[in-house]
Amino acid sequence: MLVIGAGGAGLRAAIEASAAGVKVGLICKSLLGKAHTVMAEGGIAAALANVDDRDNWKVHFADTMRGGQYVNNWRMAELHAREAPDRVRELEAWGALFDRTNDGRILQRNFGGHKYPRLAHVGDRTGLEMIRTLQDHGIHRGLDVHMEFTVVSLLTEGPRVVGAFGYERERGRFRIFKARAVVLATGGIGRAYCITSNSWEGTGDGHGLAYRAGAELMDMEFVQFHPTGMVWPPSVQGLLVTEGVRGEGGVLRNREGRRFMFDDIPELYRAQTADNPEEGWRYTQGDRNARRPPELLTRDHVARCIVRELKEGRGSPHGGVFLDISWIKEKIPNAAEHIRKKLPSMYHQFKELANIDITAEPMEIGPTTHYAMGGIRVDGDTQMSTLPGLFAAGECAAGINGANRLGGNSLSDLLVFGKRAGEYAAQFAKANGTGAIDERQVEEAAQRSLAPFERGAAPENPFKIQQDLQGMMQDLVGIVRLEDEMQRALSGLEDLNARAARAGITGHREYNTGWHTAQDLENLLIVSEAITRAALDRRESRGGHFREDFPDKSAEFGTVNVIVKKGGGGMEVSRTPIPPLPPELKQVIEENK
Ligand SMILES: Cc1cc2nc3c(=O)[nH]c(=O)nc-3n(C[C@H](O)[C@H](O)[C@H](O)COP(=O)(O)OP(=O)(O)OC[C@H]3O[C@@H](n4cnc5c(N)ncnc54)[C@H](O)[C@@H]3O)c2cc1C
Repeated sequence: MLVIGAGGAGLRAAIEASAAGVKVGLICKSLLGKAHTVMAEGGIAAALANVDDRDNWKVHFADTMRGGQYVNNWRMAELHAREAPDRVRELEAWGALFDRTNDGRILQRNFGGHKYPRLAHVGDRTGLEMIRTLQDHGIHRGLDVHMEFTVVSLLTEGPRVVGAFGYERERGRFRIFKARAVVLATGGIGRAYCITSNSWEGTGDGHGLAYRAGAELMDMEFVQFHPTGMVWPPSVQGLLVTEGVRGEGGVLRNREGRRFMFDDIPELYRAQTADNPEEGWRYTQGDRNARRPPELLTRDHVARCIVRELKEGRGSPHGGVFLDISWIKEKIPNAAEHIRKKLPSMYHQFKELANIDITAEPMEIGPTTHYAMGGIRVDGDTQMSTLPGLFAAGECAAGINGANRLGGNSLSDLLVFGKRAGEYAAQFAKANGTGAIDERQVEEAAQRSLAPFERGAAPENPFKIQQDLQGMMQDLVGIVRLEDEMQRALSGLEDLNARAARAGITGHREYNTGWHTAQDLENLLIVSEAITRAALDRRESRGGHFREDFPDKSAEFGTVNVIVKKGGGGMEVSRTPIPPLPPELKQVIEENK
């Protein structure tokens, strides 16, 4: 079987399938170990209860559902909360070296929306440790790894996915992979926007591949804008500043020095949120009787509060607001050393890139496109998409996060559902023979891929089209959305699609970045249209999706997911009812309100 993507989800899926005795091919666009997961900072959410013994899977489940504003796939949220602790312990058994409590257990830190300290971490370099461990374990299992390879098309026999077609990025040679089952683990879509924390790989390839093969996408309107990305200097705009900074006591202030997060605490979180700075500080220092500071409210809310400050003219000199961790020197001795120890990457990031010493002065930050809650629609238990033989896991799959993801819930999602996707894809592969490859599909995919070369030095250039797309999505389908702006985005997308069909490239196929960009563009255009159409359809505000023309939640939309699918006349949007919560899970939510 084939796993497309070697981030946390892909590696975990490949390990599981290989353990089940199936021969596994693993494909990635970059070098092994360089997937976007390596950039993850703050930690892995799992109710290990090492730091606060009141934590358990039920609280984690309730937190995830509340964070997702109850449109999550509740079965996935349940499995995730129940299984994450075992997946973290397993990672440790495979060699991951986590930070430790004084009595030698895995240390856990506070993060937004999590009731108790829950994030297992390695300083602020957790993704690196996760990838290193999974890669090491996977290689020893004997995975067949194909690096610097881009899949451009899935191959189907009827509705069933039976293989993939793509090219070696270095040499430009095409290759066909036959597979009894395929797992997509291609990560996010951040590169559809101009300000993003995502690596260059986040071009929504899995979303595009699945959509073109006929699979359904779900919840595409829910894009997470992380509140804290760097805003200065321009070359690093969007680069992430981990929520761990706020978890360690960092506070947000506007240009007047005011902690503006106390101004607007949503009703859903009022009972759990500190109402004064002193209580908030005590929470970050582990006081079990204190409630969390409003800086640790969910990301969608914090991002919107920052946008409000900016719109009302209270921003910092470079168009952000201030995030300050240096102030903790008023509270603890050796604060500078403490900050450098807890947040080593952040210290270096600001020192090297912005000449700011975060132990002595505040950072300037603003929202950055960070994560896609939406993605390929999958079955909660097996991770199979709506196409037989096609599975999806990790950020490219939808469901667990609903309208908003809690920080830390992605790394645990990768482990829990990566494992499940690998297990069930292996079962599928064992139960089904190899499908037949349709030569016409291969021929068509090759022609489509080479079309920009045929057009040669055309007036349209794929880089410019991608840049224009990113600017348009940022302006018209960003943090705050409006009907007429999104309608303008739809016409803009028509125009960009027409330009992409005329775009040409020169040179040969060996490591031709123009060619790579032309192929990415196809997926980015699909993803952008899916986000826009789904966002137009959801006439309410919920989680990461905020509509100025419909600023409230609607009961009607609280019971549905929005589905996008390829139809005869183009992209089709529909709604699907969310199955009712079973009574026992309803009770868990009630008990943890
Ligand atoms: C800076 C930063 C910090 C973060 N910190 C945290 C954190 O602390 N905790 C947390 O829970 N989450 C965090 N996240 C989110 C989390 O890191 C991601 O959601 C997660 O790593 C995605 O993993 P993945 O396995 O789904 O995909 P990725 O890690 O994105 O991997 C995708 C893989 O697919 C491959 N691929 C893509 N397209 C193709 C194609 N066409 N052909 C072949 N291969 C392809 C890529 O090469 C890559 O190997 C953070 C995100 C960022 C940006």
